[in-house]
Amino acid sequence: MAKKSILSKRSKFVYNPLEEDDRIAEKLMADGKKILKLNRGDPPHYFPTPKYMIDAYIDALKEGRTGYSTNRGISELREEVSRRYERLYKVKSDPDNDVVITQGVSEGIKFLNAALVNERERVVLFKPYYTVYMPDLQMFGGIPIMENYDEKNNWQIDADSLRRNLGRAAGKGVRPKYMLITNPNNPTGTVLSKRVLEEIVDVANENGIFLISDEIYDEIYYNGAKFTSISQIAKGMPHAILGGASKDYDATGFRIGYILVPGRDKTSGEIKKTMENFANARLSPNVPAQYAFTEGLRNYKEHEKAIRYMVREISSRVNACVDEINKSEYLSTVRPNGAFYIFPRLDLRKLRIKNDKDFVMKLLTEEYIQITRGSGFGAEGHVRIVSLAQKEILVDTVNKINRLCSRYRR
Ligand code: PLP
Repeated sequence: MAKKSILSKRSKFVYNPLEEDDRIAEKLMADGKKILKLNRGDPPHYFPTPKYMIDAYIDALKEGRTGYSTNRGISELREEVSRRYERLYKVKSDPDNDVVITQGVSEGIKFLNAALVNERERVVLFKPYYTVYMPDLQMFGGIPIMENYDEKNNWQIDADSLRRNLGRAAGKGVRPKYMLITNPNNPTGTVLSKRVLEEIVDVANENGIFLISDEIYDEIYYNGAKFTSISQIAKGMPHAILGGASKDYDATGFRIGYILVPGRDKTSGEIKKTMENFANARLSPNVPAQYAFTEGLRNYKEHEKAIRYMVREISSRVNACVDEINKSEYLSTVRPNGAFYIFPRLDLRKLRIKNDKDFVMKLLTEEYIQITRGSGFGAEGHVRIVSLAQKEILVDTVNKINRLCSRYRR
């Protein structure tokens, strides 16, 4: 008789499908191949983390601030996060109760799932989604109701369709626990319009659904886009904002993020208390990194210069790559206006290539370029290109993609 596995049922969901490609890339590299990695949204590889943050990190080490801190994060950092929302969005929050510092947004998402989702409960996600949302939800036994960012409408959300679908679900007694949006978006690089956000807030309100907005790229927008934080329009209804040091502050390896729950309602109160309890159950996030991020937020004049430079560079790189993609016979894309991703659609009808996974594998093993399959974000037939590398490299990548496609032309 086969021996029963010792593992929990939930453990089988917890993997990232995109890591499979990394193993193959590692093997190619071990065989001496140089791989161009355009698969990871990791800005410090292209833009050095600002010196004043690095110095603050080093000072914290030198001055012996190397023990645990308050589990929900040092008060200086919580205060700076709160000030950031006042400064950028005129949103008031209480640093003592409304902000919890986490080990990246990644931990924030885990905390929220753990706090909100019982086995077999539903939540509303939108496709294409940031890969990690899915295993993280499934780890807690949750089931997604899949709505869409609409490619035909510049990857915005069709609020009427959302309202209809949730109305239908409510008719069957389904009450989703939360709705999670990503703005600006990974993988599409789309900034949601204020009008769409207002509609989403209305729909969440009408259905009594807790709203979570992952705004980790909230200072990276361009091509005429204007960013609106959910915290500016969801005043008076329960919601949480996720953000952190990784992208805007160019410090992915610090592993520092936050959850901000500014509401004064009963649900928000319960969630704040639970976030704090969860923080207490795992001891503090990286302490020198908390000091370094505090400096990143405090020194906002320097930060403004750094982010302005980064956004200018990113937009010119993204646009150069998009122009090249849209000349291709085989790919086409909506032009992004935020974050640093391009999410082109492949014209597989023209190719002897099965699907996006096959495409990405061929590009990796034949042209030594690693990008990411769209199916990893729930959107088959697409690929994601991280557009942080220099323009010439990105343009050359599209040329190599075209070369691969002509080899496999039907
Ligand atoms: N949320 C989104 C939308 C992301 O794209 C990423 C990383 O790519 C994360 C969260 C991870 O954030 P952190 O580094 O703060 O854990």
